[in-house]
Amino acid sequence: MFTPEALKEELTKPKQIVVTTHHKPDGDALGSSLAIYHWLKAKGHVIVVIVPSDFPAFLDWMPGREEVRIYLQDQAANDALIANADFIFCMDFNGLPRIHAMEEAVRKARGIKIMVDHHLEPEGFDDFRYWDSGAAASAQLAYDFIVNVMDDHQAITPEIATCLYTGLMTDTGSFRFQATTPLVHLIAADLITLGAKNWEIHEAVYNSYTENRLKFLGFCLLNRLEVLHEYRTALFSISRQDLARFQITTGDTEGLVNYALAIRGMKLAALIIDRTEQVKLSLRSTGDFPCNEVCKKHFNGGGHRNAAGGHASEPLADVVQKFKSILPEYKALLTQ
Ligand code: 5GP
Ligand code: MN
Repeated sequence: MFTPEALKEELTKPKQIVVTTHHKPDGDALGSSLAIYHWLKAKGHVIVVIVPSDFPAFLDWMPGREEVRIYLQDQAANDALIANADFIFCMDFNGLPRIHAMEEAVRKARGIKIMVDHHLEPEGFDDFRYWDSGAAASAQLAYDFIVNVMDDHQAITPEIATCLYTGLMTDTGSFRFQATTPLVHLIAADLITLGAKNWEIHEAVYNSYTENRLKFLGFCLLNRLEVLHEYRTALFSISRQDLARFQITTGDTEGLVNYALAIRGMKLAALIIDRTEQVKLSLRSTGDFPCNEVCKKHFNGGGHRNAAGGHASEPLADVVQKFKSILPEYKALLTQ
């Protein structure tokens, strides 16, 4: 393992650096990645952000997003960048399967791998770890890394503050989830002081629906929501025809699952979507219900206690059935 002192010393010399994050980057993934990108770029390093897939339209305004390389769009060149990197910053994921097609290239790369993350049970691919599963967002850890590990608060520009604020805001559900500690608010306040325009960021992320996306939300609430009162669970199941009908693109389903938890008394919410290549599950819970355990045990996934995801290769109806069939096992926890 690399020490913070060694890392600090290494980063005083110009390096070739790759920053990457998980498949279908969310606000925290892209926010923490672009923050690190801007911070290191200003120090004179040769740095690129390479992501495994496209990212949601509601993030397509973030400072630096036009520089982001999508791995499969130019695989040979991206493989060369990864192979030649001195450092690979791995933001907001803790296992290389989370970067899908990039996994092999990053795994065999010679560069020092720095993991900044808040998900449980890191795989152990990293050489330097800045990890805390209690952190509200990887952006919180990226802030802490720059400010306290690298002792570089003065380097936080308005661009960096904007990226970090976006990560903090999206991963805390606009500062409302349980992990939103006083420290999170102090960091948010500092980021606003440093130039993050909080109201503009909120508008850009949350009030940027396409007409189709809002109608899709209405359609799902009316036609695709099933409430299982006996298990204090509510679920949406969405077919590929539904996605096609509303021309749903990356990010358009973000946040949908939370509506199911808005029903009084619900402890668990699920969003089960047929993404053609696989069926994707998103689980959300309140209190002690372990979404990550369910996703890990039954759906090849993981995440946090109150927000986790997974996938399955069976048809949509079978996955929905499987999800329902495991609820009795958790009945005591769901109804206590
Ligand atoms: P979402 O439901 O928004 O896709 O993801 C919620 C949380 O679960 C995120 O923290 C994400 O990192 C994690 N997660 C989602 N899908 C997977 C998966 O397939 N594998 C693992 N290990 N974690 C996932
Ligand atoms: Mn995150």
